[in-house]
Amino acid sequence: THFGYKTVDAEQKASLVADVFHSVAAKYDVMNDLMSMGIHRLWKRQTIASSGVRKGHKVLDLAGGTGDLTAKFSQIIGETGQVILGDINDSMLKVGREKLRNLGLVGNIEYVQMNAEALPFPDNTFDIITIAFGLRNVTDKSKALASMHRVLKPGGRLLVLEFSKPNSEALAKIYDFYSFNILPTMGKVIANDSESYQYLAESIRMHPDQETLKEMMNEVGFEQTTYQNLTGGIVALHRGFKF
Ligand code: SAM
Repeated sequence: THFGYKTVDAEQKASLVADVFHSVAAKYDVMNDLMSMGIHRLWKRQTIASSGVRKGHKVLDLAGGTGDLTAKFSQIIGETGQVILGDINDSMLKVGREKLRNLGLVGNIEYVQMNAEALPFPDNTFDIITIAFGLRNVTDKSKALASMHRVLKPGGRLLVLEFSKPNSEALAKIYDFYSFNILPTMGKVIANDSESYQYLAESIRMHPDQETLKEMMNEVGFEQTTYQNLTGGIVALHRGFKF
């Protein structure tokens, strides 16, 4: 399959990812709830809890998509804070902005189209950066992590929420079956788009495991890097500081 992006170059991967998210944007939230059986809400809650966010903070929710994390941050940081929802895909940004405005969340949120590999901000801008289920879609992950490190303030922290490696053989087997059989079928039946969900499964399998991602974060300068396995390592939450 042409989705096996080991064999595609960087430009092809970027345009593939663009196609996938233009295609899923309208149904993204409902599919997220169905495919994770609602559990993504717990993973995101844990991310907020680990972020140390306070009133007045300046936050970048990178690859923020339809804005679940942005919504939570917006409620905590108050009028003096600011959260920027950054995403490369204007379809996802549009769906996100529409959703958050309908929730009455306005005033401290900005929506900016950007590529994680080249963040359009000065050095030392943010207290917190989150990237949830976004890093695996980025072509040059180290470049993106370095860019995040650059725009964090000293003392600031990065949280990476992403699919990872299940910590038992049995769970890995069940999970593989789920992601390569059930997910694409759901994608086909519910969203009439099995290819996008096939991409999802493959991008998950290719993503660096817990220790590899931790090492990648350290390599670009993050310190006190740790991770927490969620749902048996199906998802991991990495956290690193810039000092
Ligand atoms: N963070 C949201 C969440 O957890 O529900 C959305 C996650 S969604 C699976 C991944 C998002 O990453 C998409 O909105 C996609 O457009 C965005 N994305 C992919 N590549 C990107 C890049 N290079 N820079 C910024 N965003 C990117």
